[in-house]
This record gives sequence, structure tokens and C-alpha cells, in this order.
Amino acid sequence: MKLEEHCRKEVKALAKADLARELKESLCEGVMVTQQGKEYLSFSGNDYLGLARHPEVVAAATEALARYGAGAGASRLVTGNHPLYAKLEAQIARMKKTDAALVFGSGYLANIGVIPSIIGRNDIIFADKLVHACLLDGSLLSGAASLKRFRHNDYTHLESLLVEHRQNFENAIILVDHVYSMDGDIAPLGHLARLARDHGAWLMVDDAHGLGMIEPEPKTHVDIWMGTLSKSAGSYGGYIAAKKPVIELLVSRARSFMFSTGLPPSACAAAFAALEIISEEPKRCERPVLLATKVAEALNLQPTGSAILPIILGEAQNALDASEALKRRGILAVAIRPPAVPTGTARLRLSFSAEHTDAQVDRLIDALLEEEIRSLPCAA
Ligand SMILES: *Cc1c(COP(=O)(O)O)cnc(C)c1O
Repeated sequence: MKLEEHCRKEVKALAKADLARELKESLCEGVMVTQQGKEYLSFSGNDYLGLARHPEVVAAATEALARYGAGAGASRLVTGNHPLYAKLEAQIARMKKTDAALVFGSGYLANIGVIPSIIGRNDIIFADKLVHACLLDGSLLSGAASLKRFRHNDYTHLESLLVEHRQNFENAIILVDHVYSMDGDIAPLGHLARLARDHGAWLMVDDAHGLGMIEPEPKTHVDIWMGTLSKSAGSYGGYIAAKKPVIELLVSRARSFMFSTGLPPSACAAAFAALEIISEEPKRCERPVLLATKVAEALNLQPTGSAILPIILGEAQNALDASEALKRRGILAVAIRPPAVPTGTARLRLSFSAEHTDAQVDRLIDALLEEEIRSLPCAA
């Protein structure tokens, strides 16, 4: 079969299951997004703190661009390690209260780099059922002897898996998201850290949707913090924050670090400026969660405690219909379907930004109530 023919057939099959995706050009100006000539109020972005267009962030990126040029020019291990990296990594380590940090080209690259660097053929991985796709991709690349999935946020289930399997392997790691990207709920890090300690496992937490907004209980021991600079930090890039020997190993072993070009200086400078703002403006950092909580309460839903609120609608078509209905009212809330979420739990994933005004959030609440868009009583 010709390649084109093969691909056409595959896309058709996806379309039949309502799973085909399309790229739409989007022009974002804060929470306002223009698509196909129409402007929408968006509740689908991840620029939680409104830093992607913040004047200080943009100025820092512009200055770095003029001074250091458009690209890093090489892998960081060759000649791409421009001076902004050390500054940014020290800042990240300070924020995450670790000794050291390493910046990768993206969060995805960080996750697929770190897991195979520390886990191998004699080891076991325990991962929450709903962890982000790139933690699973990293797990597969590691060649670990075993991968066990525990029920979402169910640390009792994790404990029983640890009791049953841990002792048969050399090293063990527990993988969780801090804030689950499609559900918005928060991992019970205190319990997970206790289990990790009691069973001789390492704990790795993906903080893509928490950075700057959600803090763990003090003294919660996390071995590896992973995060992205592309969401609340408004820029691009990913990082690992951990003890120094972990970071040293990654420099010499993480393939997605070694064999990929370093971030452009402007992205590093933007991220640094954004992290400064995060440390200086607690009010900005609280606002997305406050808004998500307000909407949850207005809809009689359990607040998630994060900036993300899912409205679970079941079949993919229900989510697409709800999204269309909101679009007709000038509101953008993108439908999330399998495989991003389990079958039968298609949803609108609402995300809130410090930039949303109270009036804009009220407009969303009114639209959801008037369109009778209600979450099913099921959890994932
Ligand atoms: C977005 C995301 C990533 C990937 O980060 P990028 O910097 O966008 O590659 C990883 N984990 C989670 C939970 C995410 O939501």
C-alpha cells in the first residue's frame, strides 16, 4: 500500500471515532484568542499567570535576543551553554528548594531524559494511572523490568503494589503529577513520600501545572522535581530539580539533553524574568486557583484546589457539542477526548489565568448554566 493511502485510511478511522484532530491557527492576546477571524474569551490556555506577554518578560527576552542571537547554536555540551543557563538553573533550584537544577529543551524532553538515566533493566516503576504521557514514554525508554500502574491518587493501592512487588527489583521509582493536567486534582504527596521512604523507592513529581501556584506541605521529601517553563512561567523549556549528584548524572547520561540543541537565550531570559515575578507577586499566583474554585462552587462541583476544572461529559461527541455551544457565545473551552483522557470521560477542561477578570469568569458561569453543560457525577 502507498504511504499516502495508508495514512488516509488511518486518519479516516480516527475521524470515525471522533478522534481526528486539526490544527487551527490561534492568535493569543492574553486570555483573548482569535481563531478563523473570530475573537474568543479563552479558558483553555496554560499561561496561568499571564506571564507569556508580561512586559518585563518580553523585555528580558528581547534583550537576550539582541545580545546573544536567536538560537543556542549547539547542544549545551558543545557550545550551546550560554551564560543565562546557570542563572536560570540557580533560580529554579532555589524555588524548588533543591541543590541543583538542569534545564532541558522542553518538559517532554526532561521526562523522557531523566527516567532512563536512573532506571534500567533491573528496576521497577510505579506510576499513577493518570500520569502525563511523557512520563510513560520515559518509562518505556528506560527498559525497566516492570511498570505497575496504581489507581489514580489511591496511595493505598500503591502501598499494596509496593508490598507485593518492590522487593523483587533493585531500584524503584514512583511517578506522579503534582496537579493532574486533565483533572486538576492534586497528588497526596505527603502519603506518597512516606510510602517511598518506607519501601525504599524514589519519588518523582511532575509539576507542570503546579509551578508557582501549588506548594507541597513543608518537609515533603521529593527526590526529583520535574517541571516546565512553558505554562505558568510563560516561556519554553523544561527542568529537573534535584540533589547535585542526580543533576551531574543527567548531564552525562540524559540522551534528550545530550543530543538536542539548548534552548534559545531569549527563552531562558524570559523564563528567568517570569520566575522572578512569581517569587515577588503572591497575589498573581493565587488568583487562578481562586477563580477555578469560584466556578466550581457556582456549578456545584467539588473544587480541585488547582487552576484546572474539568467538566466531564462522557462521549467525545458530548464534549464537542458543549465546546461548540460555548463557541457560539464567544467562549473557547476546547473539548478533550481520548486518548488524552480515558474513554467515556471526554470533557471540557477549563483552566484559569490570573489575567481573567471577575466579569469574564461570571460570563463563563452564565454560559455554562444557560447551556446546561453539567459534569457527569463520575470520576476518572
Ligand atoms: C505540558 C506537560 C508536560 C510537557 O511539558 P512541555 O514543556 O510542554 O513539553 C509534561 N508533563 C505535564 C503534566 C504536562 O502537562
